Amino acid sequence: MPTLPNFQLLRPLKASDAVALRGQNPASRFLAGGTDLMPNIRHGLATPDVLIDLGNISELREMREADSTLRIGAGVTLATIANDPRVVARLPALAQAAVCVAGPTHRTMATLGGNLCLDTRCQYYNQSEPWREGIQYCMKLDGDTCRVAKKSKRCWAAFSGDVAPALMVLGAQVDILGPTGLRRIPIQSLYRDDGMNWLTLTADELLVAISVPFDDTRTSAYQKLRTRGSIDFAIAGVAVSLRRDRDAILDLRVACTGVSSAPFLIDGLQELSGKNLDEAGRTTIAARIEDACRPMKTTLTDVLYRHDVIPVLTLRLLQGLWERV
Ligand SMILES: Cc1cc2nc3c(=O)[nH]c(=O)nc-3n(C[C@H](O)[C@H](O)[C@H](O)COP(=O)(O)OP(=O)(O)OC[C@H]3O[C@@H](n4cnc5c(N)ncnc54)[C@H](O)[C@@H]3O)c2cc1C
Ligand code: SF4
Repeated sequence: MPTLPNFQLLRPLKASDAVALRGQNPASRFLAGGTDLMPNIRHGLATPDVLIDLGNISELREMREADSTLRIGAGVTLATIANDPRVVARLPALAQAAVCVAGPTHRTMATLGGNLCLDTRCQYYNQSEPWREGIQYCMKLDGDTCRVAKKSKRCWAAFSGDVAPALMVLGAQVDILGPTGLRRIPIQSLYRDDGMNWLTLTADELLVAISVPFDDTRTSAYQKLRTRGSIDFAIAGVAVSLRRDRDAILDLRVACTGVSSAPFLIDGLQELSGKNLDEAGRTTIAARIEDACRPMKTTLTDVLYRHDVIPVLTLRLLQGLWERV
């Protein structure tokens, strides 16, 4: 295992101080649980000279309920979220996504904010320095060619966080603190489909909290496929949420992860509102997903398999929700 390079560790007590420190230190990074950032620093994928530890900022670790909304601080751990009785009972997709991130010890350190801001991943990038030197690097870091698509002008590294799609189908909003104050955006606006620049945050913006509405007319679920069930990142992951009235779909949302540089909601499902989940409905859903999911060869797993498995996972999850309502 490569050794860690030297860095200065700053430990602010307030979110606004963390933002100010980030602005004063251009080559710095925020450090939450460190379960993504520290391995990346060891591999030479990030080279900050200053780390701004968010662990002493108590406001980031608050979780509170008001006006039928659960506000979860960005520093709350995934273990806390997965075990919270309100999340388990009323926001099941979120609990199911949080509990399948990495392994149990990771989840006691890993935070919601770190999970949402996770680096994108690629088989040619998440490697040691000597390995990457052997292929003369790639466009995402130190090189000029994409090894996945040689003529491509963009990077296709995949966002593989589990929690973002669950929050998307639950209609979550994100509070972001920057030098000029606080702003709030829908979670899907946090991302862009670009493996090198996948977050819409500026460098000195801090994610402070995520607000998720409780909507007890909606059921939800999350499932991912991974190579080893105990620890791996998603090869493909799907979150589904459903509102149903007797035999009619009222509202259906599907979001995917692991198959592009940003997690995303599937468009075009509104046309199913008022319809039954019959064969025609299933065919429409599968077609919308197949059109939207275009994975590239960023993992060892076959691209066609990742493409074809997403509609299968979705229809299985949806059938389970349909029968449960
Ligand atoms: C073996 C292994 C398996 C893993 N498996 C999975 C998996 O199955 N699913 C999955 O989703 N992830 C997985 N991960 C990645 C990681 O463990 C999780 O995504 C974790 O939730 C990251 O959170 P963290 O608090 O540790 O983030 P950190 O590593 O501290 O930070 C991650 C990034 O987010 C930024 N950041 C952190 N907090 C904020 C904030 N509040 N505002 C702005 N930026 C911020 C940091 O600067 C950094 O760039 C795995 C990691 C390892 C090593
Ligand atoms: S998709 Fe291309 S540019 Fe991006 S990390 Fe992979 S090989 Fe590098």
